[in-house]
Amino acid sequence: MRVYGALEAGGTKMVLAVMDEHGTIREQTSVPTRTPNETMPEMVDFFRKYPIRALGIGCFGPLDLNPVSVAYGRITATPKLAWRDYPILQAFEEALDIPVGVDTDVNAAAIAEVKLGAAQGLDICLYVTVGTGIGGGLIIHGKPVHGLVHPEIGHISVVPLPADPMSQGCCPYHGNCLEGLAAGPSIERRWGISAKELPEGHPAWELESGYLSQLCVSAMLSFSPEKIILGGGVMQKDFLLPMIREKTVHALHGYVAHPAVDAGLKDYIVEPGLATKSGIMGAYLLARQAENILPEDDK
Ligand code: ADP
Ligand code: ZN
Repeated sequence: MRVYGALEAGGTKMVLAVMDEHGTIREQTSVPTRTPNETMPEMVDFFRKYPIRALGIGCFGPLDLNPVSVAYGRITATPKLAWRDYPILQAFEEALDIPVGVDTDVNAAAIAEVKLGAAQGLDICLYVTVGTGIGGGLIIHGKPVHGLVHPEIGHISVVPLPADPMSQGCCPYHGNCLEGLAAGPSIERRWGISAKELPEGHPAWELESGYLSQLCVSAMLSFSPEKIILGGGVMQKDFLLPMIREKTVHALHGYVAHPAVDAGLKDYIVEPGLATKSGIMGAYLLARQAENILPEDDK
């Protein structure tokens, strides 16, 4: 049996798993994200228990994903200072001596949703997580988009809503960007209660769906995804998705002519098909990909 390592590297915790060649999870664990000196040996020890053939990492960013760059596979300008400029890809390659693949956490989740989840068979798909931050992974023609760096759709400008009692969003870079106004911590800052505790019908959700619908409209108008998948902790409020769909249809003003819009975007703006497993399954698929790019005789 072939086994593969998968790592969902987050700013708060690292989720580690070992999968067999069918993608079935054999063991999964998580460790808190401390410094590389503390956390790397814990992770390496976990993966060394298995004869894994390759490792895939879906990583918090920003990351250098340009394969010809000397900094390829490094975490770059993260506010988590201990991890700034940390060569996570290279560190695992050296420690485990196996092929390692890396992409952003959200690109990994998007890859998994296209291959195994809610966007199977689609050509263009956007996966967005609304949690501690807001991030988006974009697949175009079956491939995750990197481009100049990689998309950071969570930081697009949105129009502050008149009913918003918070005078300034909390992104340290942009203030009123989408993440600054609509990620979990901004909801908590605005209302003094965690997003998890805010009940249905609270004005928080009118604002939240308003801001997230601005993202959906911008995405539809920018690159016309065939599906938008919204995941992450905040989206666990299941009344939120219908509110976002309704506001998106309204804001489009009939400009995007498609039966999906006529149907109220019900099958278009959706929850992840893999529930909370999109990220870790994406990391597994990155491991499979890393294995396959090896020349035949190196396998
Ligand atoms: P992370 O983004 O750190 O990976 P999550 O996606 O779980 O983690 O997002 C955490 C954020 O989601 C927190 O701000 C938290 O308040 C919010 N959250 C978690 N559970 C819920 C819930 N059931 N309803 C609304 N918000 C939630
Ligand atoms: Zn921002």
